[in-house]
Amino acid sequence: MSIFRALFISLSENRPLRAFAEKSAIGRRLSSRFVAGMSVEEALAATSATTAKGMSVSVDNLGENVTNLDEARESARLYHELIDAIVERKLDANVSLKLTHMGLDIDEAVSLTIVNEVVAHAAKRDNFVRIDMEGSPYTQKTLDIVRELHRTPGNAGHVGAVIQSYLHRSERDVEELCAERIRIRLCKGAYKEPAEIAFQAKEDVDANFVKLMKILLKSGTYHGIATHDPKMIDATLAFARSENIPHDTFEFQMLYGVRRDLQEQLVRDGWRMRVYIPFGTEWYPYLMRRLAERPANAVFILKNLFRR
Ligand SMILES: Cc1cc2nc3c(=O)[nH]c(=O)nc-3n(C[C@H](O)[C@H](O)[C@H](O)COP(=O)(O)OP(=O)(O)OC[C@H]3O[C@@H](n4cnc5c(N)ncnc54)[C@H](O)[C@@H]3O)c2cc1C
Repeated sequence: MSIFRALFISLSENRPLRAFAEKSAIGRRLSSRFVAGMSVEEALAATSATTAKGMSVSVDNLGENVTNLDEARESARLYHELIDAIVERKLDANVSLKLTHMGLDIDEAVSLTIVNEVVAHAAKRDNFVRIDMEGSPYTQKTLDIVRELHRTPGNAGHVGAVIQSYLHRSERDVEELCAERIRIRLCKGAYKEPAEIAFQAKEDVDANFVKLMKILLKSGTYHGIATHDPKMIDATLAFARSENIPHDTFEFQMLYGVRRDLQEQLVRDGWRMRVYIPFGTEWYPYLMRRLAERPANAVFILKNLFRR
């Protein structure tokens, strides 16, 4: 692991720095390149600007590892509000959430009820909830909960999972989820995981990504291929073309503020693109993980700070 990646991952877990950064005006300005604002209204404005470019969106109210159920309920309330606003404004968008933001660490049963209410609301309004994947202590629980949500009457097709190609277990998980026709977002994985459970070399993570992408594209279910890596995108395009996979049977996904040139190019070429738009006051760990992936992004962020 590069020294910068290790540095930013350790900063992402630094609580005092996080508390300071999230409260300071300068911190908010620093985050603005990758976070669409602090309020629902700002997130919806960014969503509307993105959909106007022919892309779809998934909106994420940033936050994780809440320490009491009131915070979890408040976060869920924002998701209910978001789903209604998306539907009423006819935006081509859905929502993404993290289970630890919905109280998973505090009370699993209550957390499941809270998330189920959000998914049932999305289903009623013909929308969709993506359950983000967190670090490996949560992998099995998260997949079990996604399956339970998917099997709840009325919810099928309105909730989906995320699979990380750096985990050795992912091929089996993909097969199991595909057998139930659960929609998957495939990504490489953003956390620090040990060698016993995760590939450490980039070429191994990439090879597994390509292997899983091929299973997903042939599965007959609508999945998301989430990456900014030109090599992964080229491999996906080559496979889709060689197998005659129609353009509307899967989508690419990228993060807000990252490789906007590539996002627009793929749309121009007729491929589907969904942009993941994060917003909210709890942006600090999210931003540090983005800097861990590409420390050069610190330059973009500093440029933003000095821009008037
Ligand atoms: C829509 C979406 C949702 C995600 N959801 C999750 C999730 O639920 N759980 C999870 O663990 N992870 C999630 N991730 C993060 C993901 O796991 C990776 O950490 C992240 O996408 C970086 O991997 P990569 O495939 O983009 O390429 P990398 O292997 O990190 O980089 C390869 C190349 O891609 C380009 N690139 C990558 N990042 C950037 C950047 N920030 N700026 C400019 N160029 C860049 C560069 O050319 C770089 O050389 C998500 C990612 C996306 C796009």
